[in-house]
Amino acid sequence: MRDPRHDILFEPIQLGPVTAKNRFYQVPHCTGMGWRRPKTLAAMREVKAEGGWGVVNTEYCSIHPTSDNDAFPFCALWDQEDIAAHHLMTSAVHNHGALAGVELWIGGGMVVNLGTRIPALGLRNRPQTDFTVLNPGQNRQIDKQDIRNIREWHRNAAKRALEAEFDIVYVYATHGYLLSEFLNPETNTRSDEYGGSLENRVRLIRELIEETKEIVDGRAAVATRFSVGLEDAESYDAFGLLSDLPDVWDLTVPDYNVEMGNSRFIKEAALTNSVEKARAMTSKPVVAVGRFTSPDTMAWLLKEGVQDMIGAARPSIADPFIPNKIDAGQIEDIRECIGCNVCYAHDSLGVPIRCTQNPTMGEEWRLGWHPEKVKRTPKAEKVLVVGAGPAGLEATRVLGQMGHSVLLAEADRTLGGRVTKEAKLPGLAEWARVRDWRLTQIDKLTTVEVFPQSPMTADSVLELGVSRVLISTGAKWAKDAVGRHSDIGFTQTDPTMIVTGDEILDGSKINGKKIVIYDDDHYYFGSVCALELRKRGHEVVLITPAGRVCGWGAYTDEQEASTHALIKAGVEIITNKTIDTVASGRAELSCVFSNTPSTIACDAVVPLTRKIPVTDLYDDLIYNKNRYTEAGIQSISRIGDAEAPSIIAAAIHSGYRAAFDLGQDIDLAQRYGRREHPASTC
Ligand code: ADP
Ligand code: SF4
Repeated sequence: MRDPRHDILFEPIQLGPVTAKNRFYQVPHCTGMGWRRPKTLAAMREVKAEGGWGVVNTEYCSIHPTSDNDAFPFCALWDQEDIAAHHLMTSAVHNHGALAGVELWIGGGMVVNLGTRIPALGLRNRPQTDFTVLNPGQNRQIDKQDIRNIREWHRNAAKRALEAEFDIVYVYATHGYLLSEFLNPETNTRSDEYGGSLENRVRLIRELIEETKEIVDGRAAVATRFSVGLEDAESYDAFGLLSDLPDVWDLTVPDYNVEMGNSRFIKEAALTNSVEKARAMTSKPVVAVGRFTSPDTMAWLLKEGVQDMIGAARPSIADPFIPNKIDAGQIEDIRECIGCNVCYAHDSLGVPIRCTQNPTMGEEWRLGWHPEKVKRTPKAEKVLVVGAGPAGLEATRVLGQMGHSVLLAEADRTLGGRVTKEAKLPGLAEWARVRDWRLTQIDKLTTVEVFPQSPMTADSVLELGVSRVLISTGAKWAKDAVGRHSDIGFTQTDPTMIVTGDEILDGSKINGKKIVIYDDDHYYFGSVCALELRKRGHEVVLITPAGRVCGWGAYTDEQEASTHALIKAGVEIITNKTIDTVASGRAELSCVFSNTPSTIACDAVVPLTRKIPVTDLYDDLIYNKNRYTEAGIQSISRIGDAEAPSIIAAAIHSGYRAAFDLGQDIDLAQRYGRREHPASTC
């Protein structure tokens, strides 16, 4: 039953001519699906509406081929086919009583139009301003006729949005795209009525809001996505000039690293002070995000008048059913986002978003996976899961919910495997949510028994009388340096100088003052270990063969903050170097381009270049098929890191998939052949 303190979250709210049934608003967020995968997209958005969100929006939706962000997946409303594609989403969302919104988008100088090959339309003659991309080529500086054209294209896109039956149409005036360029006095150097004074710089936004309102003519609400920041006084002046114009404000802050900040650096409700100030300046409803997962925080924000609706992108990805769970009083069932930004990373990589916490995300259409519904098995089996890391916990949860009886054996005293250990490192506390949510769910299952401090051997497995075994025994960091940049690893090593990543995770004392971390892993772990060792008082040098540390962190939006933290902590960073030998109190390095050698004195080296799956139990078991078939075991499989070491999201996905597929002979070609072929009629 719903806690009365949360009633306020379920009050309907008027957004101009339309009414949202509650205060849960899934803001526009990228999906890696875009115009190429409309069915995948519609199925994913439908699950959000089913989960109780009062408003469900699209991702950025291009109004015209001059705004093309290929190869990043974006939506489009260029023609009739796009209308039909969006209609799949709007009708799916409407089926559950939610409003559907579309974020009309004008790329400006942020894009380079690789798909259409038409010059992008920016405010100035300059290269693409998305500096994460570094495409050669410049945009074309727009003139008055271009502005007239853009206004017309926006009006046409708004008309198509109505045809597609959207209830909310956006004017998207932030995130560095064209309208932000107009607002910014540094990028807007125009001397006509669109440049100079603030009134002139907001002119195009004002025109677009007014014209969109005219077009939708009471059949849809007009929303405006806009940034305000306490450190940017003028942003409030600009907001003040437009404050009562749109039907609803979707507010954020000027710094994307705060808005979309990785949980290593940014916690829940980081935008609140900036939003609150603007909320006091308008009579129109205000939506804002803040990676909200606590219903108490959400209710407090509404009661205090900080904002009128709870905006969410990531929390709605990790748990599309947050509203329904709050409504039912099932607060402990909320699967909280951990702020890792793995979702965002996959959009940037051009594939449907994946989520560490929610393995069904992006698989709603292709595989028919659902975040809340697990099919009961017609044939309950007795399954042993060995290892209670993320893969083992997820497999156990899903198998238990399917109706299997499960024994989960874990060698350690604590459950959670790598997430329990990593969550103790600087900034990673929220990783523990991966373990905690699963343990809460497992605790409710009467057919699951959990055995900590139970290291399993082949003999003990054979005694249990189970029919299936899933081996989720994880992986260990290697002591060598075989990895991306070396086939052979160190050519010479003094083993007493090698410290493994697992020794840092275990909190083992590391002898020596000056420690070198050799990071050929390129994600968060090397940087986090460096910060941990600094905390423990060591001198730390982080060496990477890449041009920057935490390279993959560019996708998860943590590279900048992570590197800043290293610099602040006094970690010495050496880039573009491999380590060839570790001996006699030093590491010998080579430049990755010229092979020029150099030397660094150190007491120990931590190679983070690859992990080795822990498969001794698996190997022992499968070595003698007769023995295990005689014991009644029909299948033994490796899952998670024990199969192929990867990110936590991959282990969770592996656990889910293993449970979902238990006992089935899956034809992968047939399963993954289910794609959205343009020529397909189905
Ligand atoms: P993953 O990410 O694939 O879930 P982890 O490394 O996080 O893997 O977790 C693996 C878990 O398996 C660890 O908690 C480890 O203690 C446990 N484990 C490893 N070998 C055994 C074993 N023989 N018996 C029981 N538990 C084991
Ligand atoms: Fe949150 Fe990570 Fe899932 Fe994204 S991938 S929604 S940041 S848990």
